[in-house]
Amino acid sequence: MTLPKFETKLFLNNEYVDAKSGETLTVVNPHNNDVITDKIQVAGEADIDLAVDYAEAAFKEWRKVPSAQRSEPMKKFAQLLSSYSEDYSKLETASMGMPGMLGSMVGQLAVACFNYYAGWTDKIAGDTFPEEDGAYKIVRHEPLGVCAGIGAWNVPLMLFCYKVAPAVAAGNSIIFKTSERAPLAVLQLGHLIKEAGFPPGLIQLVSGAGPTGGLLASHMRIRKISFTGSVATGKKVKEMATKSNLKRVTLELGGKSPALVFDDANFETAVAQCAQGVLINSGEACVATSRTFVQESVAQKFIAALKTAFESTGSGMGSDPALPSTTFGPLVDQKHSDIVMSFIESGKKDAEILTGGSRKSNYVEPTIFLNPKEDSRIYRDEIFGPVMSIKTFKTEEEAIKLANDTSYGLFSAIFTTNLNRALRVSSAVEAGTVAVNSSFMPSLIAPFGGWKQSGYGREAGKDGMMSYLETKTILINMNG
Ligand code: NAD
Repeated sequence: MTLPKFETKLFLNNEYVDAKSGETLTVVNPHNNDVITDKIQVAGEADIDLAVDYAEAAFKEWRKVPSAQRSEPMKKFAQLLSSYSEDYSKLETASMGMPGMLGSMVGQLAVACFNYYAGWTDKIAGDTFPEEDGAYKIVRHEPLGVCAGIGAWNVPLMLFCYKVAPAVAAGNSIIFKTSERAPLAVLQLGHLIKEAGFPPGLIQLVSGAGPTGGLLASHMRIRKISFTGSVATGKKVKEMATKSNLKRVTLELGGKSPALVFDDANFETAVAQCAQGVLINSGEACVATSRTFVQESVAQKFIAALKTAFESTGSGMGSDPALPSTTFGPLVDQKHSDIVMSFIESGKKDAEILTGGSRKSNYVEPTIFLNPKEDSRIYRDEIFGPVMSIKTFKTEEEAIKLANDTSYGLFSAIFTTNLNRALRVSSAVEAGTVAVNSSFMPSLIAPFGGWKQSGYGREAGKDGMMSYLETKTILINMNG
């Protein structure tokens, strides 16, 4: 497959420019380990300072643009993104291995995200309170100023849209750092940003690894950072944000999500959704239901069916994710495949392996472990690969206890046809999102984010936009 053209420079003030740092990074195709480019330019301190200068200037003008007009370039951008979504999907596939079919779905979500937030620009209402104590009170929501976004590599285009669309709808400017492992699709968006009519400096794109992210998190003139990535890095970002200028922080972090399968569940739905819940994007999903708990009375039949589903998905292992028929891709790179395999090797000592456990280059076989030890790494830590642990339970109470016995709280899935149970268990599990009779379904309208160590703050929906606004109260002395 011929790769669409892609940019390697920084996108600052609506132009592609060379980084002053002189540093570059390399992007490798995980399907065959071929180097796609070793010329992605890395933003250093001087580059980030320049980006912030441009972003401050852009913010001053953008906040004066009438709210309904702010939606115009957003809608145009969505339209342009829709026309080129095939190219972006190919770039995503080449750099991180996402199968084209999934890439198209992510592309549609990205388009919908800009259209959704374009509808919010003129609906940011305030509040008033009566002058009964002598002061009439007006409460307004105002943009923060220069914001920054840092993305993970598993769904780069979607993470760009979830951060940038609400930020600019709310009247801010934003600098977005792509992940060093998969920068290609997002870096190419500069052309669309300019063509859509966004003013120079409003949306800027920079590349680089941890040190570049650190420059954003600790910058004294950036007012908010929205971070998506691991818990360990999220903690560092929060610390840097606090120690610098106490900038606002949103953290979208990892998960170790449970799926609870009760004996009254629709059997076929539970099997198909539990398999998809951990195999989608080769398990590189923050919402992967990697801990499955099944009620004892249906466990034998359910586990056998899940094994068949995993083996069926695994039978396509190794086929090029760029082919339309491919549903199961490689992991992002050799380093990550090695990490996932080290989890699998440790799991072989801490649990019974039901299926899987091998690799072909960066492709890791869909793997199921039964009855892992309570304190084992495969049961406790996020693996971010196609690996599931299964345990059984007797009662609803026990299922809830198992589900909540984790430091994470991003997502939970419950499979039951009993409505009362669905509502009872939904309210008892500690998670930002709970799905009943389904694996995760992305929604732009409803807020998304984590409890416990899965995160801080919300993206999507009205909450996602409010997190880019600061509240101001104006007190008017009625006797003055
Ligand atoms: P990561 O934490 O290694 O990196 C994420 C981003 O942080 C990258 O852009 C990286 O360059 C940057 N970074 C690294 N060190 C930094 C530092 N010291 N300061 C500032 N930035 C730094 O995570 P990853 O491996 O890219 O992504 C996988 C993780 O992301 C998983 O834990 C997954 O669950 C999580 N994730 C969460 C969500 C969500 O919405 N909750 C969505 C996707 C991925």
